[in-house]
Order: sequence, then C-alpha cells, then structure tokens
Amino acid sequence: MKDIGSRIEKIEALLADSSVSSLTYAALESRFTIELICYERLMTAYGYTSYSDLRKWQPKDVVQQVVQEANELAATSLKFSISATPVDPNKPPQSVTDYENFEYVEVGTQIGFDVKEIGKLWNSLSGAALHVQTPKSKDSDLSVYGDPVKIRTKVDKALDLFRKVAEGNLLTSSPGPEISYKCDGCGATIKRKQNLVCNGMVASCSSEACKESYVLTISESGVEFGRRQKLFPCDGCGKTIVLPAKLAEGLRLDQILTAECEDCGEKAEIVLRPCKVVRSKKT
Ligand SMILES: [Zn+2]
Ligand SMILES: [Zn+2]
Repeated sequence: MKDIGSRIEKIEALLADSSVSSLTYAALESRFTIELICYERLMTAYGYTSYSDLRKWQPKDVVQQVVQEANELAATSLKFSISATPVDPNKPPQSVTDYENFEYVEVGTQIGFDVKEIGKLWNSLSGAALHVQTPKSKDSDLSVYGDPVKIRTKVDKALDLFRKVAEGNLLTSSPGPEISYKCDGCGATIKRKQNLVCNGMVASCSSEACKESYVLTISESGVEFGRRQKLFPCDGCGKTIVLPAKLAEGLRLDQILTAECEDCGEKAEIVLRPCKVVRSKKT
C-alpha cells in the first residue's frame, strides 16, 4: 500500500509554514494524495478492468467505475479476519452460527470513503487554490493566490480524510467468482467478476498492447464474449477486411490506417472524414 502517512507529514509541514504559497502547495499535494488513494484502488482491481476501459480519468470516476465493474468493495471499509484454527474438511461449518463460533485473528483493515465526497474535495481544492480567480469586476486585483483561510479549510478537510485512510493496512479485491476468456487476437486471459457483468459491457483485452475488445452478453449458458470488429470492403477482391473496433474508433480526423486484405494482399487505406449530415424537413 502507498504510504499515506508520509504524505500527511509533508502537507502538515506546508500548513505549518503558513505562507500563502506553501498553503497553495499543500492544496496541490492534497490533490495528488486523493489521486494516489483513488488510483491505488484501480491498481488493486487491475486485471478485472483495464486502463483502456476507463471512461474518465478523474479520481472519483475511476473509483466509481472500479466499484461498478471490478470490485464492489473498493470504497468500503471492512475488516479482514481468519479463523485461528483450520476448518475440519470432514466437518465443515454448516451455518452462520457455526462460522461465528470460530475464534478469529484480525489480518487487517481496509478504509473506505464516500466517492462523491472525495470528488467534491478534489475539485474544491483546485477551486480554492490552484487557479487565478476569474475577475468579477474591473476592480479585481487578479491575485495569483486564493484566500488563505479558504485554502486552509479545504486542506484541513483533506487531511482528516487522509488520516482516516492511513488507518487502513490492506486493500482487498472482490471475493466473488470470476469468468475468463482467451483473447482471439493475442491469447491473453481476460477476466471479469461474474456478479458485476452487465449486458453490453465492453471488456478490452488485458494486454494494453492488444487492440481487441469484446462486448459481453449474458445468456442462459453464461456470459458470452463477442469480438468487437469493424468491417471494410476490399477494393482488390471485394471480400471483407476485418479490424478490431478499437483500432478504427481510435482514428483521428484525416489520420490514415493501412489494413492488408488477408485474401488478396491488397492494402486498403482507411481514413476518418467528416461528412455533411443532411436533414430532410419534416412535412
Ligand atoms: Zn488480446
Ligand atoms: Zn482483398
């Protein structure tokens, strides 16, 4: 786990200095610490989601997506304990009471947080300290630094959160069953938590170098991985050139993508061009 304690000490030292530039720096360090806490939850869930599946990079959104798709417990406080004595395989516990009767040894604690609140705090630190305030009148002095009292209040709030998170000594991954699929393109194993799969969910290959991605469909027989592809006609032989959808989706305007037809070897150039949308008037 990342050492939040040393980050707290650094921010406290900046607050003790009291100059407005140190307060501003303390706000920046607080933002970094929030990002560290949030991205570490993604790291723990890595393998059940991937960087290329992230819809947004903001720390709150990253954790929210991890909770929805990879580890429902990523932002929850919990204590992890194991029984002091091994379970007798010939006489396994049958009920909750049987389990409760065991003597447990605490292994560690994960500290959760309110995802929305951490997002608000991350934004408010920036709003109070990390921008030159937009002038509201002609008399504005365009001060580079924000209001020291406001900055200190936000940083104090961030420190309260960091001290709480620093009490934790472990991060867990989701305990539920998982499903897996071997990538058709590179053979890497793609895993997802079974209870967090929803119809239409897109799972990218676990290898960041691979452009394959799959749309997940829940059926009676389980979860199906449908390869996401884009099809283009070959000018040479008229057959179809198949490309991973992500390759075509990642194209910028006028960027050229060269694809070779597997049948005739003709090289096709695929270019993303804007087109004029003509709307017919409703009569
Ligand atoms: Zn792959
Ligand atoms: Zn061809």
